Amino acid sequence: MGSELQAHVAFHLTGKRMGPSLQAADGLHLRPGLLARFGDLTQLRYDFPLVLVAGRADETGIQSLSALVNGILQAIAPRGIEGEATRRHVLRLEREIRTLAANGDTGPLSRLWDLTAKRIGAPGDPALAGSLGRARAALQVDGEVVDCTHALPARVITHAWRALQQRKAERFDQEIKRLILKLSDILQADFVRSGAGTSAARLKASVGTGMEEAFDFQALSNTLAQVSGKDTLPDSRRQRVERTLSVLKARQSRTQAGWPDDLKSCAFANCRDALAAFRNRLPEIIDLVKAMAIAELEIEGRYMEATHDPYFADFDESSVGAKDLSLFPDYLVCIGSESLQGPENAGLMGILSSEMPIKVLVQVSDVLEEPALRVHLGLVAPPAQLGKMAMGLGNAYVLQSSSSHLYQMRRRIFAGLAYTGPALFSVFSGSPPGAGTLPPYLLAAAALQSRAFPAFTYDPAAGPDWATRFALDGNPQPEVDWPVHEFGYEDEAHQSVTEQMAFTFVDFVACDPQHARHFAVVPQAEWNGSMVPVGSSLTSDSSAVAGKVPYVQMVDGDHALQRALVDEKLIAAAHRCREIWHSLQELGGVRSSQAERLLARERKVWEEQKQREIEALKREVKPVSPAAPAAAAPAAPAVKPVAAEAEPEERSDDPYIETPRCTTCNECTNLNNRMFAYDANKQAYITDINAGTYRELVEAAESCQVSIIHPGKPRNPNEPGIAELLKRAEPFL
Ligand code: SF4
Repeated sequence: MGSELQAHVAFHLTGKRMGPSLQAADGLHLRPGLLARFGDLTQLRYDFPLVLVAGRADETGIQSLSALVNGILQAIAPRGIEGEATRRHVLRLEREIRTLAANGDTGPLSRLWDLTAKRIGAPGDPALAGSLGRARAALQVDGEVVDCTHALPARVITHAWRALQQRKAERFDQEIKRLILKLSDILQADFVRSGAGTSAARLKASVGTGMEEAFDFQALSNTLAQVSGKDTLPDSRRQRVERTLSVLKARQSRTQAGWPDDLKSCAFANCRDALAAFRNRLPEIIDLVKAMAIAELEIEGRYMEATHDPYFADFDESSVGAKDLSLFPDYLVCIGSESLQGPENAGLMGILSSEMPIKVLVQVSDVLEEPALRVHLGLVAPPAQLGKMAMGLGNAYVLQSSSSHLYQMRRRIFAGLAYTGPALFSVFSGSPPGAGTLPPYLLAAAALQSRAFPAFTYDPAAGPDWATRFALDGNPQPEVDWPVHEFGYEDEAHQSVTEQMAFTFVDFVACDPQHARHFAVVPQAEWNGSMVPVGSSLTSDSSAVAGKVPYVQMVDGDHALQRALVDEKLIAAAHRCREIWHSLQELGGVRSSQAERLLARERKVWEEQKQREIEALKREVKPVSPAAPAAAAPAAPAVKPVAAEAEPEERSDDPYIETPRCTTCNECTNLNNRMFAYDANKQAYITDINAGTYRELVEAAESCQVSIIHPGKPRNPNEPGIAELLKRAEPFL
């Protein structure tokens, strides 16, 4: 083993750079190759910034500026050349608003719109002013503009929570008013039938001054006195109705005085305070729920003292269910994952395992703090595992997402906040302290892409089983371990090269300079075949990559391609991350180890059966004796085994797979699922030769356990390292 290779292996195993050639990764402004093309986000049209539209208690309360602008352009800019100038003007305005938001200037969209229109010179440019004026008139909504920053998760969740509480309060007030009205009607009807209600004076007052000469009210009263009082309410019922009415009216007067419109009293910065406030409010909730239940029974005439008196006498907190609690304002707790220790952690678990309508946002700002990296090695529960643990409690709505994905998750955010029980929103904000120069949006998106912080929801109210309750929506390429993307660059000969590259947990860690010690940069002169891309290292079986050192493709501050070796500790953490992802895939029905096992068993049975049939066919072919006597007959050509005589088939230069022999081990499809795919029998074939590189073909051939992938000749003779690849491909041609 050469000294360079020794140094590479030593770094991989120990994390220590030995020898002069390997370079520390810190200070080089490295970022994973696949993120290289995302420089200035303000030049991109993507989901951010968002517009938080006030007063909307559904997904339309969270909108994307780009989507709003698209809607406006559809309305005002004709298709084709005619609408071109308008489109250009409005898109310019959108870009400027995005820049303002990225620079921290927030506020209502209407304000940023007007400010931007002025800045880009609309007042002095009639065409521009005309386009922007028409667009402004078509703008139907307004709301706070927010970018993907550290503050985003709390702003989005709080905004949606407020809108829902407002709607809930309005509905609750309507219900209280209805009950008060109906109970008042019962008392009023009783009064009308009573002696006081049928007195001459009362009858006269009810008719009014215009008609008082037309009636003899005393005679009318005497007549009614003969029937009045016969059907009046029993005292016990009247008193019960009066008591109930007073509880409802007291609640109504507090609402009119502003309670609980002040939602600030329902928002908390820790679980302990939220729990204490909920317990303080519980007696009042019990009284009100009891009053509403009695009112309903009285209104429907179904109250039976023998049955209901004892029930309501013992009415306490155990009588109040999640449905009753859902009538009242939910509490909201916003905390950082760093505070989840000791009592706070216990408080969170207490909330999530109860029926209390408390919604908790846990903002995770660092998935990779070193203890968390240890967690991926199985030592401590990491923030990325919080959502999965909460699902295990069974009763809470759980949403896990990166902040970059919150717009996509908006419908589920509202669903979680409207859920009758507790809910957990675990959101990675993409902004760990000291995380370098990557914008929070990119870091959050990288966490989602790399499976370091996958998105999922668990809704206990959605149905009876996991298939209906659990959703793995929004994760890129959910069927594979690591999503694969095209990576284009220019090689040393200035040839453009395109590769398929997996974005793995290691790539995500590489985004954070705090973890630079897990990487060592190799000078280009030392790049060799004993190095393996980390995507292949993490998807191939261990024997296929034995002795090879994994590296991650990076781009430095000068946009030059670099290879950084990865230490064993980080590779182990990536494997652990992949296992967690596998368990989520199983929950989401993307893969099923039980089904795969069954399939393998059935395939084995099928293969054995086929083998028996082939053997039987072979036995049926009788060998012809080569020793026929020369004189017996003209010599016939000897029949020889076909295989021995057959001309060797001309080898094709095209790659191919002996598909019928495929054992569905997933190696090639994991390596590049655009190039390799399964047919209806779940056996691999090459679906698109242009979807990958010759290197991937060779690596797939090397990793195929039954050696049935034949890479053929390279299509691109200029592919980097082609000489070495051709040598490696030889055994498979
Ligand atoms: S690597 Fe070979 S055996 Fe495995 S799926 Fe691909 S072709 Fe089939």
